[in-house]
Amino acid sequence: MGAVIPHVRLSIPATKLCSAGILLITHWGMSGPATLKLSSYAARFLHERHYHCPISINWTGKTNQQKVAEDLLHQQRLHPQKQMSTTKVFELPTRVWHYLLQRSTLNPDTRWCDLGKKALHKLVEVLTNDGYLVEGKGTFKEEFVTCGGVSLQSIYANTLESKVIPGLYFAGEILDVDGITGGFNLQAAWTTGYVAGKSAASTFGRESEH
Ligand SMILES: Cc1cc2nc3c(=O)[nH]c(=O)nc-3n(C[C@H](O)[C@H](O)[C@H](O)COP(=O)(O)OP(=O)(O)OC[C@H]3O[C@@H](n4cnc5c(N)ncnc54)[C@H](O)[C@@H]3O)c2cc1C
Repeated sequence: MGAVIPHVRLSIPATKLCSAGILLITHWGMSGPATLKLSSYAARFLHERHYHCPISINWTGKTNQQKVAEDLLHQQRLHPQKQMSTTKVFELPTRVWHYLLQRSTLNPDTRWCDLGKKALHKLVEVLTNDGYLVEGKGTFKEEFVTCGGVSLQSIYANTLESKVIPGLYFAGEILDVDGITGGFNLQAAWTTGYVAGKSAASTFGRESEH
């Protein structure tokens, strides 16, 4: 609870859906940029599965398991007599590191020199491919942006006028446009609002001339 992990990779197993960045562990679940990005990329996939699916966390941000093992072995060479729990690895907060050691069935008091090959392998697996289950969305319905909306095929891109109902213009979130958080959605709302407004005004101007 209340932990920030700076470099994670989140992925949904058996799909190409993944994201990287900061992970925030809160008292209501996972959040932070990596989570928000993945929920944006996977919006349709998650919706179809009623927000229930497996998720894999790579706590190190490194894609190469061999490299992660080498980093751990480096720690072993540096501090053979030190307890593993007292070493800072992969910029993980201490509580998270302790939790992951336990999740790897390692006693946090274990000294680096006592880390055997099998235990190292298990630890690398937990650090790079730690499985959890997504069991729903945020509790407070605090979604920032809605995926889906009026199909882009049904509007003229340069005016945002409906191809189905002439004289009807769409802008903002009602369109099937969504971006990751960081200002893209507001920018889309402002830009499409400007275009739709100008187009509607010029149509209205043309009509009132006749
Ligand atoms: C908590 C939160 C945080 C966000 N943070 C970011 C961010 O950091 N960066 C970013 O880019 N985007 C962010 N967004 C998304 C962004 O705010 C929206 O994508 C954007 O505001 C959409 O603009 P819009 O004009 O299409 O819709 P809205 O801003 O939702 O405007 C729709 C308006 O229509 C009104 N309305 C609805 N029904 C009716 C009706 N029947 N009659 C009359 N009026 C009606 C509503 O009251 C509202 O004022 C965030 C959204 C939320 C909820």
